[in-house]
Amino acid sequence: MNPPRSKTLFVALAVGAGLVAGLGMAGLVAYRLLAQHSPFGPPPTMTQEAQSHDSTHDMPSDSATVSASDSTTKYKTLSDENWKEKLSAEEYRVLRRQGTERPYTGVYEQFWEAGTYVCKGCGAELFRSETKFDAGCGWPSFYEGIASDRIREIKDYSHGMIRIEVRCARCDGHLGHVFDDGPKPTGLRYCINSVSLGFKKAEE
Ligand SMILES: [Zn+2]
Repeated sequence: MNPPRSKTLFVALAVGAGLVAGLGMAGLVAYRLLAQHSPFGPPPTMTQEAQSHDSTHDMPSDSATVSASDSTTKYKTLSDENWKEKLSAEEYRVLRRQGTERPYTGVYEQFWEAGTYVCKGCGAELFRSETKFDAGCGWPSFYEGIASDRIREIKDYSHGMIRIEVRCARCDGHLGHVFDDGPKPTGLRYCINSVSLGFKKAEE
């Protein structure tokens, strides 16, 4: 009697396992179908990955800026040698090598004339004198840029700190850093190297 009984048991187990596996598969298929047609959309992990992949693929962060104007393309394609010819050694060190001028030495640190501060690399208008204030930190400080699309912000992990580096959006020249301890109305402090700037006096 033993062999048939164990055989029956085996068959029963096999059928049971088959049922469980079948139900499992059916459940998975049903879940996927439901997920695809549910008002909450498909499973989030898949779409998020797909979306972020697509967006980085279709729109590299620089392409919009480059195609925005011909002059941007011109400055972005200048070689290191071109910049060395165009700039003084100190300007090159700060603008193209993320250097920092010594505090309290820059020509615009205590300079209060009315006008517009421009990028020393490409001439783009960056800051207005009305937004300049004396932060006492040794560098020209502004609480606001002329327009948000003129200045590019980059996370900077150098020197054991986390800071936000600011660059000219047109030529990618290093300007300085922006901190959140500035005055009203923005609460920001754009701490900028004088050597990265030029100045256009306001017309009387
Ligand atoms: Zn520039």
